[in-house]
Amino acid sequence: MIKSYFVRESLLHDSGPSHPESAERARTLRALLTGMEKEGTAKMIEPHPSRDLSLFRLAHDPAYIDFLERHDNRLPIDLDPDTRLSSGSLDAMRGIAGAINMINLEKDRSQPVFLVARPPGHHARRRAGMGFCLVNTAATQAMSLLQSDPTLRIAIYDFDVHHGNGTEEILGALPGTLYISTHQYPFYPGTGSGRENRTGPDGDGILDIPLPQGTNDDVYSRTLQETILPRLASFAPDILLVSAGFDGHRDDPLGGFLLTEKIYRHIGEQIALTLPGVFIVSILEGGYNLLALKKSVRSYMEGLNR
Ligand SMILES: [Zn+2]
Repeated sequence: MIKSYFVRESLLHDSGPSHPESAERARTLRALLTGMEKEGTAKMIEPHPSRDLSLFRLAHDPAYIDFLERHDNRLPIDLDPDTRLSSGSLDAMRGIAGAINMINLEKDRSQPVFLVARPPGHHARRRAGMGFCLVNTAATQAMSLLQSDPTLRIAIYDFDVHHGNGTEEILGALPGTLYISTHQYPFYPGTGSGRENRTGPDGDGILDIPLPQGTNDDVYSRTLQETILPRLASFAPDILLVSAGFDGHRDDPLGGFLLTEKIYRHIGEQIALTLPGVFIVSILEGGYNLLALKKSVRSYMEGLNR
């Protein structure tokens, strides 16, 4: 059964007034996960927060983490027009660090886990937050797993509608890791054209798959079968991290894809089938229409569960 790590402190981060990345997202998913636990289809765990942000120094410039830690809770700071460091942001990040540590210690790696937290992380660069993201959760999870065992082969599959520029910057040059992203292009943040793509001697590297506005379930499914699953299978990771963003849903207010919740079930089923026995750790990224987010997360988790 899929385990979901729900970071309670996520509710404390405030992206700002009328911001699509709101605490309502976490409240909606907490209600979903509580319901799934009652049905017996998921197990929900609320991790203990870490004391500090030091874990994030694995993926970020220590000077940037020092800057975050010095933040005075009473004074919100806008890192860019969309990205706020609010009162409660440090609590949310300590909660995320606690979840990453617990996932690293997970003994039963035959079952998938899903980390539900906010703000999202995949745009956070080595030295700066951007695009709603303060720290890069997926990159930190990868670096932390590698710190425990440097021989691990780690693949990251990012299906958020936006390119994970931060994750690619932090992990893209690291031997033994593979970063795969599908995203709307051209679109925010402007990266991910495919020019950075490379295959290392070991199948590691970067595979950016830019897709046009209007991409639907059929086009996505073909890309999954023809391009993504074969590359994942040949890389043969020990661990698959999924940057699971649901803002490619047709009802999402930010993205321009026309995906439905059905594709997320299909993605879940297909990655589980392609990588049997591989520890699959999914991390929530975007998804801003609450109803679409709830339906898509349920569908994806049910797909992974098979
Ligand atoms: Zn996104």
